Amino acid sequence: NKIEDDYVMGEALGKGKFGSVFLCRSKVTGVEFACKTLPKGEETVHKEVEIMQHLSGHPGVVTLHSVYEDAESFHLIMELCSGGRLIDEMTKEGRYSEHKSANIFKDLMLVIQYCHDMGVVHRDIKPENILLTASGKIKLADFGLAMRIANGQSLSGLAGSPAYVAPEVLTGDYGQKADIWSAGVLLHALLVGVLPFQGDSLDALFEAIKSMQLDFHSEKWQSVSKLARDLLERILTRDVAARITAEEVLSHPWMMFYTERTL
Ligand code: ADP
Ligand code: MG
Ligand code: MG
Repeated sequence: NKIEDDYVMGEALGKGKFGSVFLCRSKVTGVEFACKTLPKGEETVHKEVEIMQHLSGHPGVVTLHSVYEDAESFHLIMELCSGGRLIDEMTKEGRYSEHKSANIFKDLMLVIQYCHDMGVVHRDIKPENILLTASGKIKLADFGLAMRIANGQSLSGLAGSPAYVAPEVLTGDYGQKADIWSAGVLLHALLVGVLPFQGDSLDALFEAIKSMQLDFHSEKWQSVSKLARDLLERILTRDVAARITAEEVLSHPWMMFYTERTL
């Protein structure tokens, strides 16, 4: 079947580096989806599809419903996240309460932990790639840079978005812990409303990522709990071996104290 036979295309939902994402509706069921169209010749499409299928067992990962292929493109029919992107909510909200930050961060860590347990490094954790459902639940999207790695294997080569990139990604080999760093950059932005590492140029930004110390004495941190600062320090640690894992983040006292108990 051709995609036009099965779906009616709607408005654009977003534009990425390689493709665009459109709202679409199944002609048979009337259900709405998001369709990511990627031009052929992009070798990574197969990997993106394969990894999404591999990760389909978790509610925090955007579900891949089906894939269409035509002469020019691949079309990925995905679960629709009608709540939009976390980045847009963050821009509106400014800074989040610790309670709200912790609940978002817990859901993010649960899905990152799942990816890591499944042998996947996402490599592009940032709020542009975290989507929201109609009810406000987070969904991790965009597995275009994701890689499967065997136990103990490491990756090399610069990947990701400059402000979120881990220091070890800039200098050499890296693995799952690079995602933890990127999530830490996001946590910083949730808690205080600004990114931790900035620079007037890419070089200045990378220099900050490699060496700048966080200043918890500054004004913006005064209203943030000591527990939150402790967690962030354990995440934004340049010593990769000392940096905590997703599992350890989930059992950190800040998480325990500020997230909702579900029992
Ligand atoms: P890229 O690899 O080009 O960055 P993404 O997969 O991140 O592509 O998608 C680009 C944008 O399209 C997202 O930031 C988001 O705004 C929108 N988008 C992607 N997937 C969905 C989805 N399942 N539901 C709603 N919007 C989506
Ligand atoms: Mg993206
Ligand atoms: Mg991508």
